[in-house]
This record gives sequence, structure tokens and C-alpha cells, in this order.
Amino acid sequence: MSLNTATVKEKCNLRQAIDLCASYGIGGIAPWRDKLQEYGVDEANRMIQDNGLRVSGLCRGGMFTLEDHLSQNILDDNKKTVDEAAAIQAECLVIVVGGLKPDSKDLAGSQMQVEDGLFKTLEYARTVKMPIAIEPLHPMYAADRACVNTLSHALDLCDQMGEGIGVAVDVYHCWWDPELESQIKRAGKNRLLAFHICDWLLETKHLLLDRGMMGDGIIDIPLIRSWMERAGFDGLKEVEIFSEDNWWKRDPEEVISVCMERSAVC
Ligand code: ZN
Repeated sequence: MSLNTATVKEKCNLRQAIDLCASYGIGGIAPWRDKLQEYGVDEANRMIQDNGLRVSGLCRGGMFTLEDHLSQNILDDNKKTVDEAAAIQAECLVIVVGGLKPDSKDLAGSQMQVEDGLFKTLEYARTVKMPIAIEPLHPMYAADRACVNTLSHALDLCDQMGEGIGVAVDVYHCWWDPELESQIKRAGKNRLLAFHICDWLLETKHLLLDRGMMGDGIIDIPLIRSWMERAGFDGLKEVEIFSEDNWWKRDPEEVISVCMERSAVC
């Protein structure tokens, strides 16, 4: 298992999250950029390596549509994120591509801008050998976070771009997709760069901040994991739970023990 720092976002800084992982024997961590900034990238790397943790991914780069064109600012920020991922020896940089361009209804144009941004970021990432992982988000985020919403779309982009790029499969975003099994198979070992787990609560109260603990919702996580493994994925199961009214309020030690218990059976 790997702990995505979002899971303990409210109660733990990076050092506390690392200490938790170390004391519970968790194999890896996946920091968000804001957590890295708390100590600076070099110090963060030192703390992570001192505790023998793998870094299943850095969250996140992308957001290529924050402006109505692919500005130098956006590209520079993505380059910087690639460098940060390399500095902490992350296994991949997770990319959330961005939704519609500001004040626009231009889905096709936004997707073209995303392609352009991905390609330019990938060109740089190849020079430092940092794999980049497109994370397709659930279609409910198409307008504001990511206009790549299926594994199939993400893999088409990967095929177009070649080496050094793959996907992050997050069960929260992908569980509903009738093509999920076949697209995981299509991706294969080389493109499957990360596996994020949590659960979809039947009565979700907030689309962003009410993710469930594995086992509390309706996703058949063991089934999806079996598809991932059959396709060759042998990375860590990264627990990523945004839960404003529940898990973020609890004692992190409790959260971690439940995560471990649940992830062991999914
Ligand atoms: Zn995710």
C-alpha cells in the first residue's frame, strides 16, 4: 500500500505522514505538491529516502487549460513539477489535464490544448526519465478539472505520443466504465503506472470531498485490482481519500489502521 497524502490532508504535514507510514510499515507515499513545499523538495526527498519509502507518484501536474492558450507559465510550472517528481524519485508524475478553457464551451479546443500541453511536458519529462501518468477523471469533472474522462481516451493520447507516458487508474473515476476491463488489458504493464483506491459511497454528499473508505461503497475493488494484476501491474495500491466530513476529521492513526485493514482485502 501507498499513502496518498490527501487521505490525511487535514491532520498531517509531510513529516507526520512519513512518520505514520514508517511506523505502520506502509511501503510508499504519494505526496501532493503543497505538502512537498512545506519542507522543500530536497528535505522532503531526504525524509522519504531515510524511511525507505517508495514514492508511487507525485500529485500533480497538468491543468493545461487554466488559461485560454497554452502559456509559458503553464508549461514552466509543468516542467517544474516534472523536476520535483524526479527529485523525490517518484515512480510517475500524475497529470490531471484540466477542464474547459476559461469562459468557454469549446470542448474540442480544450482537448487540443491538453494534447499540446501533454506533448510538450512529455518531451521534457523524457529528458529526465520521469514517466507521466494521465489520470482520467470521472465525467462530472469534465468542465472544471479534466476533459479526459475515460481510460480509452487517455490511452488514445498515450498511443499518439509514444514512450514515457501512461495512465493512473483511479477506481473512483473509472469504476462505472463498461470498457474498464478491456481498456486495462489494452494498457498493459507499460502504460499502467499507478492504481488509486478509495470507494464510491452510494449516497455521495459532495462530488469532490466525500470519497469513501474502501469497503464502504459500491466499487468492486478486488475485481478491478485483479484486472490490473492480470494486465501486469505490480505497483503499490495508493489510498487516496478526500473526505471532508469523515476521514479528514478522524485521528490519523485510526485512518491508517483502517486503510491498512481494508486495502489488505481489496
Ligand atoms: Zn487519483
